[in-house]
Amino acid sequence: MKRILVIEDEPQVRANIREILEFNDFAVVTATNGIAGIQLAKQEQPEIIICDLMMPGLDGFGVLEALRQEPKTAFIPLIFLTARSDRSDMRRGMELGADDYLTKPFEPSELLRAVTARLNKQASIIQHYSDQVVAAKNQLDHAMHHHTITDLPNWLALQKTFNHQQSQSSHPLALIALYVRDFSAIRTSLGQTFSSLLLRDIVQRIQHCCETSQITVELISHLETDLFGVLLTEPEQAHQLSQRLIAKLSQPYHINNHRISVKVLTGVAVYPAQSDSLEALVRQAESEIVQAISLDTGVQPADIATSSQSPCGLLSSSFSLFEHLKNALEENEFSIHYQPQVDLKSGQITGAEALLRWHHPELGMVSPAQFIPIAEESNLIIPIGEWVLSTVCRQLKQWQLKNFQPITIAVNLSAQQFKQPDLTDKICHFLKKNDLSPFFLDVELTESLLIRDTELTLKTLHQFKELGINIAVDDFGTGYSSLSYLQRFPFDTLKIDQCFVRNINNNSGNMAIVKAIIQMAHSLNLSTIAEGVETAEELSFLQKNNCEAIQGYLFSPPLTASSFEKMLVLASSQGA
Ligand code: C2E
Ligand code: CA
Ligand code: CA
Repeated sequence: MKRILVIEDEPQVRANIREILEFNDFAVVTATNGIAGIQLAKQEQPEIIICDLMMPGLDGFGVLEALRQEPKTAFIPLIFLTARSDRSDMRRGMELGADDYLTKPFEPSELLRAVTARLNKQASIIQHYSDQVVAAKNQLDHAMHHHTITDLPNWLALQKTFNHQQSQSSHPLALIALYVRDFSAIRTSLGQTFSSLLLRDIVQRIQHCCETSQITVELISHLETDLFGVLLTEPEQAHQLSQRLIAKLSQPYHINNHRISVKVLTGVAVYPAQSDSLEALVRQAESEIVQAISLDTGVQPADIATSSQSPCGLLSSSFSLFEHLKNALEENEFSIHYQPQVDLKSGQITGAEALLRWHHPELGMVSPAQFIPIAEESNLIIPIGEWVLSTVCRQLKQWQLKNFQPITIAVNLSAQQFKQPDLTDKICHFLKKNDLSPFFLDVELTESLLIRDTELTLKTLHQFKELGINIAVDDFGTGYSSLSYLQRFPFDTLKIDQCFVRNINNNSGNMAIVKAIIQMAHSLNLSTIAEGVETAEELSFLQKNNCEAIQGYLFSPPLTASSFEKMLVLASSQGA
């Protein structure tokens, strides 16, 4: 039964409306004045409010204004009752956001028509919103299961298919891991657009090769930028298909007037014969690739990739960089840049993200996107990560001593760092050494990290939480997302990935995704920060949708410590 709230001071009119509505199967609650009406509206959440305009005390306008300011009642349709003479009042009421009006005295049929019209309109609005939410959820779901560049199923999709296959039959499975060598070097020298086109051609060839092979392929997945996985239910065919793939993919590509050849390496592993899980299956296939590279180059397998735990991503970069990276710490080639994070309510800088920079004397600036993966594969990330923590803590203390506004600094933690049982102790050590409260340290971790070693990860995160360290999920929405872990882990913040923020106003898909992420975050009591905000349009969309904070070139790129300090000086002097 639909509930209607009637706010009316005249007893006769009130009784009359009640009678008409109840006779027509509405549930009616009544209030005799404006204040009581607002209270009841909050409590009862009626479908419609009918409110007299002229009342002693708070009049109808006052009621309407109060209702629209309260989130719980802001969207309840309201019909005003006025005397026939008050035309200008009606106009003002509609301007304030009333949905309809009735002039007294009215016929029962007039009242019912007005109520039904409002209810129908409201129902269609609700339908429209829920359609939008469903569409946004579908888009989010798609984004979570597909690689951003090629739109092929990603690691999470592979995991689902694998689990499904495994639960359906005891049939063995084979995985062909396919690695495109030196892809990051190609990207560095020929650019992002070119390398995306190359990936697209590679995907087409893989698909064509699988389709024409007469071998049943369960899934072609894109696991890392330069790593693909082909899942088969006929392991005996895997080597044959893998040879075909190498032959097809090694033929030259013609892109934008360039002729380019790539070297492709494959590894094959079988479940359950060689591995007892998907992770083990990928690891096994990857280690075959490592062997192949080693044979090819004479470099020891241990120097190509020493990480035995990381399925996919093991091999994502050329390893000459690795040789240089080994010496970078000793040679003092690292520094940290700080990118301001701005609170959207206050407009204040509330913190910064610490971003590592590597300046090599010959190579110049090397992007962290290139060297962090190598550092992770080789465990060099452990000493490098400690250097970051220690430098950040020391810097933060210096800023605190200068009495700027309080800020937090966010440090990126990688999966390898999380594998150390004493990670919390190490962080505490740096905090203590600098006499810093954990309150001022944020950590950012990526989704991919969370699906591995869940027990240890969960334990470490709870330790952080107890200390008061703020935990943010980085690059949210890309990669391995699963909504269930959001409830399982004690996060504070979701960092909305730049790919969703980019050009938000021209991309309805991204709009829906960003809205859905913010809503979901709020419903889980998490705050949101959008990264990669470059335009005023992006900013205003985020502001409108109640995103808490932003980070991006629009406000500032990452800055050297001294430039960031200048910004703090300026902010402090303006705040004072
Ligand atoms: P991230 O954590 O997602 O960092 C954000 C990246 O976006 C940074 O790239 C930043 O410079 C860039 N960025 C910021 N604002 C904008 C913008 O408005 N537009 C665009 N197009 N880009 C923007 P950066 O510094 O190259 O870092 C790349 C990645 O390297 C980081 O991604 C992070 O995953 C990793 N990284 C950086 N420092 C560390 C570190 O100390 N430890 C670990 N484990 N990883 C790090
Ligand atoms: Ca980050
Ligand atoms: Ca990020």
